[in-house]
Amino acid sequence: MVGAGPGGLAFARVLHRHGHPVDVLERDSGPAARPPGGTLDLHKGLGQLALDKAGLLPRFRALSRPEGQAMRILDVDGTVLRDWQPRPGDDANPEIDRGQLRDLLLGPLDVRWGCGVTRAVPDDRGVVVQLADGRAERYDLVVGADGAWSRIRPAVSAVTPHYTGVTTVETALDDVDSRHPDLARMIGDGALAVYGVNRGIVAQRNSGGRVRVYAQFRAVQDWHADLDPADSEAVQSRLLALFDGWAAPLLDLLRLGRAFAHRPLYTLPVDHTWTHASGVTLLGDAAHLMPPLGVGANLALLEGAELAEAIAADPADLDGAVRAFEERMWTRATTWATITQAGLERLVSPDPAAAIALFDEVQP
Ligand SMILES: Cc1cc2nc3c(=O)[nH]c(=O)nc-3n(C[C@H](O)[C@H](O)[C@H](O)COP(=O)(O)OP(=O)(O)OC[C@H]3O[C@@H](n4cnc5c(N)ncnc54)[C@H](O)[C@@H]3O)c2cc1C
Repeated sequence: MVGAGPGGLAFARVLHRHGHPVDVLERDSGPAARPPGGTLDLHKGLGQLALDKAGLLPRFRALSRPEGQAMRILDVDGTVLRDWQPRPGDDANPEIDRGQLRDLLLGPLDVRWGCGVTRAVPDDRGVVVQLADGRAERYDLVVGADGAWSRIRPAVSAVTPHYTGVTTVETALDDVDSRHPDLARMIGDGALAVYGVNRGIVAQRNSGGRVRVYAQFRAVQDWHADLDPADSEAVQSRLLALFDGWAAPLLDLLRLGRAFAHRPLYTLPVDHTWTHASGVTLLGDAAHLMPPLGVGANLALLEGAELAEAIAADPADLDGAVRAFEERMWTRATTWATITQAGLERLVSPDPAAAIALFDEVQP
């Protein structure tokens, strides 16, 4: 297994549950090597199903935040347009911090941290994995769960991600309830979204009073060419200019941020598949990178769990298990990639009403 993200860890944890050891090679030097990122809503038939297969559903329920399913949409002038609250007992999509999810999955697993992989080369005796430190190791099966810029993908596919035309800049506010109570009230218990012409702001509660803020906008890929990305003030003033005219509390979500992470959104083609190659496969973002509309981690988790279960059911027929897994993954991923691609077009579009209509269709 290459990559200790949601997909790789779900795979390793389910195999571990069935008594099969697996090598997990991860480039990061340790679990705390970089900030884990925001919160994820895990859907009942996807991410939660994967955690069930790993025997972790009760612990997920104890950690997750059902109240985080609340969703509010504001107009750019601050008027509340929609306000959805979860019903009591609603556990369709509760939120969990990425760091909590990672620790939950890690549990007893022995990840090989600081073990970057540069490529995988199948031959007639298996697959040789080249490590960044120059060493090489041989495996029967290599699963690339190494994300958008997978180093395993070239072993099966020449396709690379392309820029969607939409960029996200992420910042965060801490202790919102005590330091910014007005903003805390405006955001509510879950997420807040505001859509304007070709741009939007999403603020999402994490645990511990932290709020992550995502500014999204259509832009050429090098929109920041004349900016030093490390110059937070310059990035912030560019963002404030981009959202000029929006209500002051909405702009405060950007004004109060201290660090800004630039995340251009890339995708793989919605129908990305490959000719099956014995000994190598992909899952998660490595296989089907799609716009971040709430399913990527869910799919990665479920795929990891399903592949592990298939292998555990018949370890003597690795290739058969992988072939069947790939067919199932491709069909499901194509459906979701099509939905999320169309969703991104509507969310960050010239017509803000299209974004609200999308929420009206998917909110219960
Ligand atoms: C802003 C944003 C918000 C999102 N919100 C949601 C959401 O609410 N719900 C949801 O389901 N999805 C969400 N997603 C999508 C989700 O984050 C991804 O789909 C998910 O993380 C994919 O999991 P993965 O295991 O395939 O890959 P990753 O999470 O990318 O993990 C890959 C792992 O591989 C490691 N790695 C990379 N290269 C190498 C290498 N060469 N050698 C060894 N290790 C390597 C990386 O360090 C990493 O640990 C969001 C994405 C973004 C950008």
